[in-house]
Amino acid sequence: MKIPRHKMPEQPPAARARNFNEVPLGYDAETAKMEAERCIQCKNPQCVTGCPVNVQIPEFIKLIREGDAPAAAKKIKETNALPAVCGRVCPQEVQCEGKCVLGKKGEPVAIGRLERYAADCERGECKVEIPKLAPSTGKKIAVIGSGPSGLCLAGDLALLGHEVTIYEALHKAGGVLVYGIPEFRLPKFIVESEVRYLIDMGVKLELNAVIGTAITIDDLFNKYKYDAIYIGVGAGLPKFMNMEGENLCGVYSANEYLTRANLMKAYDHPNYDTPIMRGRKVAVVGGGNVAMDCLRTAMRLGAERVYSVYRRAMEQMPARNEEIHHAEEEGIEFHLLRNPVKILRDDNGWVRGMEILKMELGEPDDSGRRRPVPIPGSEYEIEVDTVIIGIGADANPLLTGTIPDLKLNKWGYIEALEDGKTSVEGIWAGGDIVTGAATVIQAAGAGKTAAKSIHEYLTNKGDWPKVPAEEASE
Ligand code: FAD
Ligand code: SF4
Repeated sequence: MKIPRHKMPEQPPAARARNFNEVPLGYDAETAKMEAERCIQCKNPQCVTGCPVNVQIPEFIKLIREGDAPAAAKKIKETNALPAVCGRVCPQEVQCEGKCVLGKKGEPVAIGRLERYAADCERGECKVEIPKLAPSTGKKIAVIGSGPSGLCLAGDLALLGHEVTIYEALHKAGGVLVYGIPEFRLPKFIVESEVRYLIDMGVKLELNAVIGTAITIDDLFNKYKYDAIYIGVGAGLPKFMNMEGENLCGVYSANEYLTRANLMKAYDHPNYDTPIMRGRKVAVVGGGNVAMDCLRTAMRLGAERVYSVYRRAMEQMPARNEEIHHAEEEGIEFHLLRNPVKILRDDNGWVRGMEILKMELGEPDDSGRRRPVPIPGSEYEIEVDTVIIGIGADANPLLTGTIPDLKLNKWGYIEALEDGKTSVEGIWAGGDIVTGAATVIQAAGAGKTAAKSIHEYLTNKGDWPKVPAEEASE
């Protein structure tokens, strides 16, 4: 227990702030073994209770200690199909590592880094094996959306012998993992290899297929004869602040900015000449992971100054500590307890600045965090040419609005039971479109749970339960 937690090597801040290569470089075999030695193999491992999908953490760590990283990856995959992704982006500090007994007196075992190591070794040593599939059941399932939720569900159902087709609106599969989370946090080839794995298992992928417009839910059931449908469309409708100037040239939603940078490959300039504003002075509004990704992307796209404008204090930022720390190291300037009130325009309709109001912390609000209260008369202006609004996203009604009997809550998210069943027989839903913006592992877990439920339903079709609002998740 006296051995300190092993650091993971990283690109130095000055260099990485100007490139899109991955920031942390991963453990080598020796360091991974030494870190694995720190785990005391608790009889009643609290780390497992902290993991939303109950990965058998001590068991996979033991396999790394014994020098069999590919076996460790297989152990993780018993409950989490995306270890290389989750090892990189899960908020371990509030999940498994937050519960690790070593954290009580010192630093927890670096579970996320070991998870990443195991998955990278399995892929690097070409030890990823396509599992044996159950005999064909003759049942067909349509999955709408290829984010972590849809991908995990598709894998589990294919394994059980069902014919699965994923319909994805964009030209690349992966959901937020490819269009939102930047290359420097989650290299695209990792998501591509997860998708390739599913295709090798026989999962079909229909890209550029927006369900709800050209193809309807009715078509899926009646024309294409699917036996079940899973909706995993995420929550990708950009949210704005409704302040003056948000329609000026040079203002982006985080969603659009990151999609241009990631999916449309602005990060790979000059190989790709993607239209994106390469601002000199960029302000990003918001304090979550999405805002951090925008800030760090703007820096890498060549900005001289990048400002984080957040209405609460640093301790209240919802972004992961690691992301905030990385952003600070890379030269992002934090304007805390500040709220934008107006975006200022130049004579040609482009952004020239932002008017900001100072805030102070008042009494706690419903979230338990101290409420930011405006300080009257404290407005001032900063000079910026690009503003990115990164305050979250809402449910997109494009698909849900076309299914008349599908119950939604007051924010437009689908009401679903624990196992994903919705108010329409034969339709399940999970991930962000049910919970609102959450995490990769929660979305993946919802996909796994719904896969089990779909399999049971298709095997011995029982009654479809009612989905009243009070029993459904909000
Ligand atoms: P999504 O990943 O949103 O995927 C939904 C897919 O459905 C998309 O590909 C979309 O194009 C497709 N779709 C939508 N409508 C249709 C339609 N009508 N027809 C066909 N396809 C459709 N979580 C973490 O755990 N760690 C992080 O570090 C982290 N960082 C994040 C950074 C950003 C910028 C964002 C936006 C989110 C981040 N999250 C993070 C949250 C996490 O990515 C989401 O909770 C998760 O991706 C939700 O998964 P999902 O499968 O429900 O949906
Ligand atoms: Fe190992 Fe920590 Fe889990 Fe105990 S709680 S088994 S020390 S990772």
